[in-house]
Amino acid sequence: MTARPAAGFRDFLKMLLLLELWVGLWVTLKNQFRPHITVEYPRERVELSPRFRGVPRLRFHPENGEELCIACHLCETVCPDDCIHIVSEKKPDGKGKRLVSFEINYERCCFCGLCVDPCPTKPLTAIYMSHDYEMADFKREGFVAPLKVLLNGVDPKDYKE
Ligand code: SF4
Ligand code: SF4
Repeated sequence: MTARPAAGFRDFLKMLLLLELWVGLWVTLKNQFRPHITVEYPRERVELSPRFRGVPRLRFHPENGEELCIACHLCETVCPDDCIHIVSEKKPDGKGKRLVSFEINYERCCFCGLCVDPCPTKPLTAIYMSHDYEMADFKREGFVAPLKVLLNGVDPKDYKE
């Protein structure tokens, strides 16, 4: 039975021939000619799936451009994270209520989408899961979205090189 070269000798040969270095260079060379799969965010942004759930937002009526929300408080009631805070008042004509303020604390939101399910407005739900996901901020107050932001959305951040 012939004796196999000792592990120490094999390691020595590998080191002598710089084998690991050549293997590493081969991997680099091979990948130079493959299409890039990384996305250079924020300069590049991936296309989001239609079902992507970003932060919840409010929308206007698609036909008359008025606020769709009827201040029923259902979304506030079902939110498991208690991150929706609505203040409403009776309309001057006594028919229904209108919003005084509507806030969502994005710091607490878990993007579950439960607030959308009971929303009774037609033809669309007043609250919906948007495609906004850029929420970084330096202050905690920046995570509390007021009515204006909820209705008009957040502009994508303008990152300069
Ligand atoms: S997505 Fe979930 S956690 Fe966020 S506001 Fe809606 S119900 Fe609350
Ligand atoms: S459930 Fe819909 S209509 Fe009711 S308060 Fe929430 S967003 Fe407004």
